[in-house]
Order: sequence, then C-alpha cells, then structure tokens
Amino acid sequence: MPEKVFIFDTTLRDGEQSPGCSMNLEEKLAMARQLDRLGVDILEAGFPVASAGDFEAVKAIAAEIRRPIVAALARANQLDIDRAWAAVKEAERPRLHTFLATSDIHLQYKLHKTREEILQQISWAVGYAKSFCDDVEFSPEDAGRTERSYLIECCQAAVEAGAMVLNLPDTVGYCMQPEYEQMFADVKAHVPGMERVMLSTHPHDDLGMAVANTLAGIRGGARQVECTINGIGERAGNAALEEIVMAIYVRRDVLPVFTEIHTEELYPSSQLLTRLTGVATQRNKAIVGRNAFAHEAGIHQDGVLKKVITYEIMTPQTVGMSSNEIVLGKHSGRHALAKRYEELGYRLNKPELERAYELFCKLADRKKTIYDEDLIVIVNEGFEHIPEMFTLKLFQTVSSSGGRATATVELEKDGEVFHDSATADGPCDAAFRAIDRIVGVPGTIADFSVHTVGPGTDGVAEVTIRARFEGREFTGKCTSHNVVEAAARAYLQAANKAAYELRRAAESATAASGSVHSNEMVDRFFPGGY
Ligand SMILES: [Zn+2]
Repeated sequence: MPEKVFIFDTTLRDGEQSPGCSMNLEEKLAMARQLDRLGVDILEAGFPVASAGDFEAVKAIAAEIRRPIVAALARANQLDIDRAWAAVKEAERPRLHTFLATSDIHLQYKLHKTREEILQQISWAVGYAKSFCDDVEFSPEDAGRTERSYLIECCQAAVEAGAMVLNLPDTVGYCMQPEYEQMFADVKAHVPGMERVMLSTHPHDDLGMAVANTLAGIRGGARQVECTINGIGERAGNAALEEIVMAIYVRRDVLPVFTEIHTEELYPSSQLLTRLTGVATQRNKAIVGRNAFAHEAGIHQDGVLKKVITYEIMTPQTVGMSSNEIVLGKHSGRHALAKRYEELGYRLNKPELERAYELFCKLADRKKTIYDEDLIVIVNEGFEHIPEMFTLKLFQTVSSSGGRATATVELEKDGEVFHDSATADGPCDAAFRAIDRIVGVPGTIADFSVHTVGPGTDGVAEVTIRARFEGREFTGKCTSHNVVEAAARAYLQAANKAAYELRRAAESATAASGSVHSNEMVDRFFPGGY
C-alpha cells in the first residue's frame, strides 16, 4: 500500500523571508487561503519573534485557516517559544517548530557552545514547547553537515523530550542524494522510539538538487516534506512544492507514496504568489513556467497534435493550467465565465463573479481574444484587498526620442481631485514624479519589469514595480495596452500599499505607546490624523 507524504508548506516563512518576497498581512492571508485550497497538510505561517508584522500574520492565519496544521517557528529559547505559542495557540491544530544548529561549524563559529550544551538545550527547548503544545517539531539546523553519531544523539534528545516530528535540513544545499537518503535511514535505524516520530525533509537548492534530495529523503523514510511554492526561499531557494508533488504523481509507478494535494490548484497558487511578491518564475520553470507546456519545435508540435503522450508526461490541465485558447468573447455570459474560472481552479462567489464579469466586459471591448492569462489577471488585479487612497483618473504623457518627457496625472482621493505634471528623461519617470508631487513623498524604483500577457500582438503589457518609500519596499503590478500607463498605475498601487502599511504601523505604535506617532507620508495620506 502506498503511504501518504505530508506536505509542509513554508512559503510564508522560509520563502517569505527571502529578498524581494516579503508580504503584508492581507497578502499573507490571501496566500494562506490559497494554500488551504491547494490542500497542504501543514502550513508554516511565520517566525513570530522576528517582527510584530510576523506575529500578527501568524495570529491571523491561525485564527482563520482551520483545516491544516498551522506551525510557528521558534529558536530554542524561551522568548521565541513564548512568542510563537502566543501567536499560534488559537489554531485548530497548532504546532510549535523549534530549531537549533548541530553541526560543528555552527557550534564553533555561530553559537560558541559545546556539543554537551547543545544537547541540553535541545532537551530543554523541546520540553518547554511540549508544555504548551502536544505537536512539537524539532530541526537540527545544518543536519546535512552534522557528524552522524552526534546527529543521532541530538535526535534522541529531541524524541525523549517529546518531539513528534524530526526535520533534518540540508540548510546550505550541500548534500548529494545518496548522502541525504542515508541520513534518514540512519536516524530511523538508530534513534529509539522512531516508530512514533515522523521524519521530515528540508533541503535547499544551492546546487539545484533540493527536489531530488526531497525524493531521496522520502526513500530514506521521510513522510513529511518541507517546501515552498515556486521554490522561493533563502539564496537559491527551497524545494519547489509543485515539482515534488508532480514528480510523486507522475512517477507513482516507482514511488511507493502519494500526496493529498489538489494538483489543479498548483498553477493558481504559483500565479497568486507571483502577483503578491512581484517575483516571477523563469519561463522554463518546471510545472508552472509559462513555457512548461509549450511545444515550439515543429517535430514536437506535430507529435503532440497526433497524440499528446508523444511529448507530454502530464497534461497542463492536471496542474490547473489550461492550454486551450479561450473562446470567450464580448458576447459570453456570466455562466460561461464562471465555468471557465472553475476550470482554472477559481471558485468565485456571487459578488466576485459580478466584479470579474464587469472587468471581463471592459477588456473584451478592447481585445478580441481573451486568454486564460487575462482571466487570471482579472481575478488577481480586480480583487486587491488594499484600499486605494488615490485612484488614477487621468493620465497623459508627451515624449520624443532623445528629448525630455512630460507627464500629467490626475488623482482622486475621497472625492477630491488633484492634478500635477512633471518632466523627466523618460515618460515613466515623468509619471512617477508627477504622482510624487501629488502624494507628497517620493519613492525610488528598486525594480521594474515588463512582460507581455498572453500570446499574440494584442497581448497586454504587465508591469511590475518594486518601489521604496521611507526605507521600505512595496510592489505594484498592473496590466494595460499602454506600458507607460501600466507603469504609472503600478507605481501608484505601490504608493497606496505603502500608505496602508505605514498607517497600520503607526496605529499599532500609537496603541502600544499611547502617544501619537507622526510621519510625513501618513499625514499626507490621512490629514485628519488617527
Ligand atoms: Zn530553510
């Protein structure tokens, strides 16, 4: 009988802490809801001691997401474990995940502790976590480079103190597959009481082997795998959830395991994460890349047309990506639209469908072919949870080759209309400066990318911008036939998010200290104070 492999998603913890992937509370909640739909078994919601934002996000996710186990990360000390428990205790099924480095390299250079001290700390930390929560996971950080007999002692200490899950990370992405597999087999064979403990993988992708090592860990006896959507994470990233799941699904003939992931939610999950972080996957990314199911070579196209199995080992529909051009047009009704969304993995409620239909009709007026990508953009763009302080009412640019560009923008806020113009070397920059003049606090562009959405010359441009306001980065993303307008709207979206977050931060600072926190940008957006 095949055994179940439990999917432990750490997109919101290990993934979110990597550069460019940070999300605010609403964005984390949106991602958590999608991970729930995807069917992950364990959702690691964050590292509560790291910041107030992380704490609030874990608390909110624990309160709302009821089906999966919700885990919170803590180093092996009292403050971390207290904060993690305070954040996660309202979960239907909470888990405390504590970790401590065990390799000699980390002991000597990072922790300055002896092996004996580390063993005692493991026993204490797991026991302390266990006093709050029955479900405790322990990770010996850098297990992959920990001397084997000492690793076994560490695991034994954790199991004796009550750990129910032992996660063996290849923290630095260094292990080869046979080594990683053997580590699991050794721990399983030599730690007493392992029949009651689940083993877990956590490889990193520094040598491009995170997914291969995950499968090696499963061969060695692991039945939980830690991974992230799109493989985001520290440095080269974590193991990509979608690749692990599809490898297990496609090669179930040789792997004695299965997962309970709803594979048709893989592509929508990947798309949502890309939208929230502004970090796109490469086109040739396995499973979810734009080209993952595109057949360019003539001989391949010919084969696929004759029989799909000639060049496809799985169908795009299995992962929630439809390769069919949509036949929807301006005369399609709500019912056809709802059905298409269902095929794409979105179940829209009535108001959502109304909103999507309205945006769909607008787009259908301007564009004769509506592709699946367009529909996903409609859902993602149209359902922003961040309230817009300023909305763009009018936008105009004048530019010439080799000359200066001028942009005029008109923004509306609470019924009041502001307009201003600015000149700069290019039309985008001129638009940003004009927006700055109205909003009052300048942002600086950290990253700017343009993609076309959907095939064909009538494809719209999708602009993603990361901009820094008052030292913090915010992303904006917008699609339009006009690249400069998309850039201006994306920039304004980032500014609106910045204002929203700065207000939240100011409100919680006020609540905490009882004093009024003043901040130029917040004042500009909320002149009435708070
Ligand atoms: Zn990691």
